[in-house]
Amino acid sequence: MHNYLPVLLVVAAQFQAAGVLAQEPRERVPGVWRSVPSAPGGGLFAERLELWRNGRLWHMLTAEDSYLLSGFESRPGRHPWQGEHVGKWLHAATLAYEQTQDAKLLKALQETVQRLLAAQDANGYLGTYGADYNIADDVAAPQKNGGTRKPAGGWDTWTLRYNIYGLLTYEKFHPDPRVVQACRKMADLLIEIYGEGKADITNYGTRQGISATTLLESIVMLYARTQEKKYLDFAGHIVALSENKPKLRLMGNMLEKGSVVDSGDGKAYQLMANLLGYLRLYESTGDERYLKTVQNAWDDIKAHHLDVTGGPWSIKTPYNGNGECFAHPQDYNPAAVLVETCSTTTWIQLNLHLLELTGQSRYAAEAERAVFNSLMMAQYGEGIDWCYYTRANQDHEPYESGIKCCSSSGPRALEMFSRYLIGEVDGAVAFTSRAPCIGVLAEKFGQAKIKGMGNYPISPKAEIRFAQTTGKEFAVEFKEPLGARLAAVRINGKEIESRKNERGFYMLESAWKSGDEVAIDFEYQLESHFALPKDGRKWVAFTYGPWALAQTTEKGAALAEPFNGKDIPSKAASEWLEPCPVKDGGLPEFRIKGSNIVLKPFFCSGSLKTGPRTYFKF
Ligand SMILES: [Zn+2]
Repeated sequence: MHNYLPVLLVVAAQFQAAGVLAQEPRERVPGVWRSVPSAPGGGLFAERLELWRNGRLWHMLTAEDSYLLSGFESRPGRHPWQGEHVGKWLHAATLAYEQTQDAKLLKALQETVQRLLAAQDANGYLGTYGADYNIADDVAAPQKNGGTRKPAGGWDTWTLRYNIYGLLTYEKFHPDPRVVQACRKMADLLIEIYGEGKADITNYGTRQGISATTLLESIVMLYARTQEKKYLDFAGHIVALSENKPKLRLMGNMLEKGSVVDSGDGKAYQLMANLLGYLRLYESTGDERYLKTVQNAWDDIKAHHLDVTGGPWSIKTPYNGNGECFAHPQDYNPAAVLVETCSTTTWIQLNLHLLELTGQSRYAAEAERAVFNSLMMAQYGEGIDWCYYTRANQDHEPYESGIKCCSSSGPRALEMFSRYLIGEVDGAVAFTSRAPCIGVLAEKFGQAKIKGMGNYPISPKAEIRFAQTTGKEFAVEFKEPLGARLAAVRINGKEIESRKNERGFYMLESAWKSGDEVAIDFEYQLESHFALPKDGRKWVAFTYGPWALAQTTEKGAALAEPFNGKDIPSKAASEWLEPCPVKDGGLPEFRIKGSNIVLKPFFCSGSLKTGPRTYFKF
């Protein structure tokens, strides 16, 4: 028995008494917003999705001597975190199959799942450490040895977290009791090691344990799948342990409207992955405090920790853990801060799940901004390479083919966004992005076919067209992108008024007939954004509609400083930038007045030899 157990029990009892945790299963919260079977219908986003589906998706199956599964099949693997990639691949590839129905991909998915399951030990262990490795002994050893040896167990938990996530995602679409059983065995092993009265999981992961407690989301997914209370209890135990650790304490800190910098050393990717767990807990229990935890964190990240690319930025400071940790806005420096692609991905996931649970347009808008800027910059145009980090200002993009956490995360965000283009909410059909797409509606909408057309986001004009309708009356919802305003809506050529509902979506009600066409014209706004860090430097960046704008710079090239010493904040962006003529269907470009500097969308301003300058000194 570990000597800290009595303390833990007292603390857990206090939380129970104070009502901080409520682990009795309650009503499951029905999703407010539900995805409609749909697929991208051409345009820029579809191109980026195809890049992954035709390139890296297949590359991952054989790359680096079958790195995806070799660590499980020939233990030990080559890297302590090698195990995370197969779960991430299963997530992204499963969603890809749902839209492509590609028989070759189905076969690859089935084979990958079978091979992964075959590598599981009798005790439930499914990791990449040595063949004689025992996770329970490993966790116990540091305590037996007076805490001098660093356990490997925390990172093994990370692998099991992604295994369960990937396998349960696959199983949701391809029901298979063997897959659920494999996940139960992994979770049961983890309960045996980290359950009540056992080792404290927060001692076995980096950054105050926040990397190990990312397990929360996968455990709640397993509870949702099996409805077995022991998994919900284990989730509650993980939360209690997190709350018991003053430097972790994510839920308590967020409910008090604290800063994300202060929990788990502010480790951005893992902190947001923990928030995904709290959202699942809300979904499974209906306990609003879990939702509030996430919404308060979202408010803080949105207000203080995003740059104009929509990516959550991080930088090493004396008060946080490392360069991948959140920092206070006064430490912002566009040439030094990092946006980890895992962070961008997790931020997009967080926004899409929040959309699902609340139906609020602001979450769709942030997901879209991150996809069209930060995420698309991280993906190289040849289809294989990705960036680990991007920066708003840098002289080249470090695209690489190597299998890294970020290159396995990024495609998950592309696939998830693709699944959330059209949804059903409050009896209406909602377009969360105006990226071209095709959807088939449910019976209550007369099984109408609905097509989102146009060339958004390159063009701010888009249409919705109906086919095979039965004249049913229902509302269609859409939202304006960040940085844009609605200019006009026409149904079959006739201009109409459209009002916004309380969730932030415009609504159009009609009895829709085949051939009906809704034209929606947005007007992109040109806007300035300022960063005023504590070192006295001031920075300005510009956006045009959903696009962050950037100059393309080259390594070693001397950069003109068009704003040095000027009083930018008193001037609107249009006084500093003039539009350049662009070909029909081309990307927008602006020239900084009185200079040769041309700005274009951030996502296409970098290559292996060039990089973006998004923020300018003044
Ligand atoms: Zn990463």
